Amino acid sequence: MNAFITLADGGLAVDTQLRVTTADGEAIPGLWAAGSTGQGGLQLLNHGLHIGWAMVFGRLAGRHVAQSQNRLDLSPTEHVTVS
Ligand SMILES: Cc1cc2nc3c(=O)[nH]c(=O)nc-3n(C[C@H](O)[C@H](O)[C@H](O)COP(=O)(O)OP(=O)(O)OC[C@H]3O[C@@H](n4cnc5c(N)ncnc54)[C@H](O)[C@@H]3O)c2cc1C
Repeated sequence: MNAFITLADGGLAVDTQLRVTTADGEAIPGLWAAGSTGQGGLQLLNHGLHIGWAMVFGRLAGRHVAQSQNRLDLSPTEHVTVS
């Protein structure tokens, strides 16, 4: 009998500014990803790499978001109350 480790790893495709990209490589306006969600397809197969990635690229993504232009084409969504 063999033991196996199975996992899903990789996250969404992102560019160098952590913007989520389409299958064609185009950045989707206003959408960034960090941590395991924004891993850009990388398989991180060693101890601590995931947490390291999440902290470092979360900070970088936050900086890019903070430095981005305001989106004037977006409007706030209405609050929905779930009972
Ligand atoms: C059992 C296990 C062991 C691991 N061991 C290691 C290890 O030894 N070393 C290593 O480097 N990596 C390890 N990892 C992987 C590592 O923990 C993750 O890759 C890393 O924590 C991902 O960070 P993250 O910030 O992307 O996501 P998370 O740490 O999952 O953080 C996401 C946060 O968002 C919150 N959230 C979700 N939805 C919402 C919402 N709608 N509104 C508000 N908040 C929300 C969640 O509650 C959570 O706090 C391990 C993972 C697991 C499951």
